[in-house]
Amino acid sequence: TVRTRIAPSPTGDPHVGTAYIALFNLCFARQHEGQFILRIEDTDQARSTRESEEDIFKALRWLGIEWDEGPDVGGPHGPYRQSERKDMYKDYALELVEKGHAFYCFRTPEELEAIRLARTEAGLNPGIKGDLELPDDEVKANLAAGKPFVIRMKVPDSGTCVIQDKLRGTIEIDWAQVDCQILLKSDGMPTYHLANVVDDHLMAITHVIRGEEWINSAPKHQLLYAYFGWEMPELCHMPLLRNPDKSKLSKRKNPTSINFYERMGFLPEAVLNYLGRMGWSMPDEREKFTLDEMVANFDISRVSLGGPIFDMEKLRWLNGLWIRENLDHGAFVNQVSQWIARNPEWEKLIPLVQSRIDTFSDIAPMANFLFAGILPLTEADFEHKKLEAGQVKRVLQFTLWKLEALRDWQKDSIFAEVKSLCQAMELKMGDFMFPIFVAIAGTPNSWSVMDSMAAMGPDMCRARLRNALD
Ligand code: ATP
Ligand code: GLU
Repeated sequence: TVRTRIAPSPTGDPHVGTAYIALFNLCFARQHEGQFILRIEDTDQARSTRESEEDIFKALRWLGIEWDEGPDVGGPHGPYRQSERKDMYKDYALELVEKGHAFYCFRTPEELEAIRLARTEAGLNPGIKGDLELPDDEVKANLAAGKPFVIRMKVPDSGTCVIQDKLRGTIEIDWAQVDCQILLKSDGMPTYHLANVVDDHLMAITHVIRGEEWINSAPKHQLLYAYFGWEMPELCHMPLLRNPDKSKLSKRKNPTSINFYERMGFLPEAVLNYLGRMGWSMPDEREKFTLDEMVANFDISRVSLGGPIFDMEKLRWLNGLWIRENLDHGAFVNQVSQWIARNPEWEKLIPLVQSRIDTFSDIAPMANFLFAGILPLTEADFEHKKLEAGQVKRVLQFTLWKLEALRDWQKDSIFAEVKSLCQAMELKMGDFMFPIFVAIAGTPNSWSVMDSMAAMGPDMCRARLRNALD
């Protein structure tokens, strides 16, 4: 039976790219009456969080994507979280050492740097390769002395690796370009490559459908399958989503979090429909279709490789069709009410207004901005008696850059970023905050903008800061 999977790393907000790849895996599995699995790839322990994992589950379910096996629903091939499979990977790495396909590497960072430099000077690919292995007795002595090590896979020095891709046909990559990949890190954790191959095999995955960013990993994976003597799943590398300017869709230019689209009030059916239109079309080219219709008509060979453009304007248009044509009055009222109840995280924000109002209805004008999407602002909104226009721009731009890099989106961490920036720019806090209030809340007199930013989420805040800079 056909078995596909989505294997997200829980390191941030749930990405539309994850939903897009999940959708194609789901359709392929359903079309073949197979199974679709969700596996959490959390071997990067410093960056992975349970919160982000929960967010991924929630966001995919919101879209209507359900999995047959996974960390939260169980299944016969569990556990489905790589951190819970840790011990297994080490045995597989040692098996490869024993078979002579991998080796202990004790090189220090300085030595690796020297190797890299020497390779660059020799006109070779600067990846880590060659001159890494030690004679057996030295390896033994180092192990006995408790020297830290990693395990690396052996990779041919020359020749060409030939990969078959369901969409792209034959892909050739020179082995000279492929480095001796670390399989097991010095802390005993596997790298993505080892864990991914071992798990795809043990979970009986038959088709790996993933983003084209992974094509360069395919030679390593193919070699690992051969080293283990396992059958390799079929590969299918999907085109990446693009910004309207054709660059790779990224949060620096566009909101990429599924949560943002939920908060904006898109319908999950429409978002899923739009993701289905990314590089794929119905045989009759119709724009609007449900998940069931997509499954019924699915044919992966109809994916076109030109980078699909994720364009919010087109998504809005499609969402409008869904709102007008697919919701009767009852369903519409119901969905809007639920959205209002869910969205500006009332429980957290309501206490903030108690000291500022005389009647409940006073809340409405103050809370407008929480429901809104991108605010209609003009240059006049940013005029300030102490800050000149250039300073206003710099405050907004630097804040945006800081918040693009901020990983832990909490009121306190947002405030810490803003405060350090304000000090570095040698501005008074009140002056510094003025453009931020206007960009985020539309007015300098809003309630706590930090609480609002925490509640609105990173993508919405970044989108508003970008809008203010335009
Ligand atoms: P950004 O550039 O927005 O920060 P990223 O590449 O850092 O994005 P990750 O958090 O690394 O995003 O990726 C999360 C998931 O989304 C990964 O599984 C990745 O394959 C997928 N993904 C990221 N960008 C795209 C894209 N443009 N198209 C399709 N999938 C993507
Ligand atoms: N964990 C990888 C990711 O985040 C999985 C890539 C794959 O599908 O092999 O996208």
